[in-house]
Amino acid sequence: MKTYDTIIIGGGRASHLAKNIGKLGKKVALIEKSRLGGTCSNRGCVPSKLLIGYADVIRSIQGSEKHSILSKIEDIKVEKIFENNNSFIDSVDGKYKSRLNDNVDIYRGVGYFLSNNVVEVNNEKLTSDKIVIATGSSPKEPLVEGAWTSDDIFPLEKIPSSISIVGSGFIACELANVFDALGIKTKLLVRGDELLSNEDEEIQETFKKEFSKNIDIEFNTTVKDAKYKDKAFEITLESNDKSTKEYKSEALLYAIGRQSNAHSLKLGNTTIKTDERGYIKRDEFFETNAKGVYVVGDAAGEYMLQHAAAYEMNYLFKILFEDKKEPLKFKYMPHAVFTTPEIASVGLTEKQAQERNLDVVVSKTSWEASAKAEAMKLDYPFTKLIVDKNSYEILGCHIIGPQSSTMIHQVLTVMHIDNDIRHLKEMLYIHPALSETLLPAAINTIKNIEKRK
Ligand SMILES: Cc1cc2nc3c(=O)[nH]c(=O)nc-3n(C[C@H](O)[C@H](O)[C@H](O)COP(=O)(O)OP(=O)(O)OC[C@H]3O[C@@H](n4cnc5c(N)ncnc54)[C@H](O)[C@@H]3O)c2cc1C
Repeated sequence: MKTYDTIIIGGGRASHLAKNIGKLGKKVALIEKSRLGGTCSNRGCVPSKLLIGYADVIRSIQGSEKHSILSKIEDIKVEKIFENNNSFIDSVDGKYKSRLNDNVDIYRGVGYFLSNNVVEVNNEKLTSDKIVIATGSSPKEPLVEGAWTSDDIFPLEKIPSSISIVGSGFIACELANVFDALGIKTKLLVRGDELLSNEDEEIQETFKKEFSKNIDIEFNTTVKDAKYKDKAFEITLESNDKSTKEYKSEALLYAIGRQSNAHSLKLGNTTIKTDERGYIKRDEFFETNAKGVYVVGDAAGEYMLQHAAAYEMNYLFKILFEDKKEPLKFKYMPHAVFTTPEIASVGLTEKQAQERNLDVVVSKTSWEASAKAEAMKLDYPFTKLIVDKNSYEILGCHIIGPQSSTMIHQVLTVMHIDNDIRHLKEMLYIHPALSETLLPAAINTIKNIEKRK
C-alpha cells in the first residue's frame, strides 16, 4: 500500500489543489477517471463560453438594423466553429498535466474507498490521513434513449441540422441560444411556463420576453414519446391540456439538472454520509463524517459553480497547510447567465426577502439615462437592488443587460469590503460607462430608504 500526504479523488478544479500541495514538496495522489480539468474546462463553463463568443457576434450582426445598418450573414462556418471548440477541449488535459510537478502522481481510473482512509484505484491501494473528495457532478440522465446531455456536445462529433433542448435552467438557455444563433433549427422544450426560475421574478419576466424573441420555445410541454428513426427523433409533445403535437428533430438534448457522482466512491465502506439528493455531507471545515476526509466543489452539492469550487479548494488548502482556523462562510454567491440577454445576480431575490419578512427597500432602475445604454438601442436593461432599510446593506442585486456579469463586480466589491449601498452613491464613475448605471440605481434605492424612515 502506498502512503501519500494527500489523496485527491477527482481532477477537475482540484488539479490546482494538487499542484499547490505538490509545490510544498508533499506527495499527492491525484485520481481522475476521465480528463484533467473536469467539467468546467472540458464540458462546462469554458467550452460553452467559447461557443457563446460566436453566438454573441451573430446576435450583434442580426440586431444591427436597429442601428440603421442593414447586414446579412453570408455564411456561418459551423463545422470550423465546432472544430475549434473540439480542439480546445482536446488540449485541456495536457495543459493541466503540464502544470503538475513530480510530487503529484496521477492515477487514471475510478477511485473508491475500501475504508475511511484507504482508497483503491486500478487495483492499487493508497492511504493518507488527508483525503479530498472532489468528484463533481454529472448531468441527469436523459429520459429518452439516444438523447444527449451537455456532456455529449463537448466535443461535438456530428453537427445536427436541428436540435430540441429540454430544460429551462441556465445550461438549457445558454445552449439553446448558441445552437439557434449558429443557424441550427432549435426548439426549447419547457415543462412549466418559466425560464430561469431561480432568478428574481422581474428579471425572469424580462428575460422570457427578450429571450423568446430569438428562440422558439414551447412552454407547458413534456416529451411524451421520442423515437430515433431515420437519423432523427420523432418527438411527440404533450401540453398541459393533454393535446399532442408531433415533429422531427435530429438531436434531442436534456439539460434538466445535475446529479452527484458519489455512487462511484463505494461510500458504504466508510462512515461518510450523503444527503437525500446523494451529495456528500460535510461540516463547516469541509470535513465529512470520516475524520481527515474532506469534500469540496460540486461533490458537496451546495453551489455547483466553478468560482465556488475554486474558492472552497483554495480555502481547504489554507485549512490543511496554513493553519486557517475559521470556517468558510461565503458572504455572497454571485452567478451569471451568458445569453442574449445577459443576467448577473447575487443574493436575495425580492420574493426571498419577502418570505423572510426582512425590512428591505427594493428598487428597480432602468438604464435609460445612460448614454452608452442608449447607444446600444436597448430599452429592457435594468438593475434591481434589495437593501436592508436600517443598515443600508445590499442583500441582493440583479442586473439584466449587456456586460451585466462584468458590471456586477462593482457591487460585489462593496459587498465584500464594507457592505453599504451608500458607497455606490459616493464613488466617482467614468461617464458614460455602463457601470455608471449603478449610480442612479443606488440614488433611487437610498431615496426610497429615506422616504421610508
Ligand atoms: C454546460 C455547463 C456550463 C457551466 N457554466 C458555468 C459557468 O459559466 N460558471 C460557473 O461558475 N459554473 C459553470 N458550470 C458549473 C461548473 O462547471 C462546475 O461547478 C465545476 O466544474 C465544479 O468543479 P469540481 O472540480 O467540483 O467538479 P468537476 O469539474 O466535475 O470535477 C470532478 C472530476 O472528478 C472526476 N471523478 C468523478 N468521480 C470520480 C472517481 N470516483 N474517481 C476518479 N475521478 C472521478 C470527474 O471525471 C471529474 O473530472 C457549468 C457546468 C456545465 C455542465
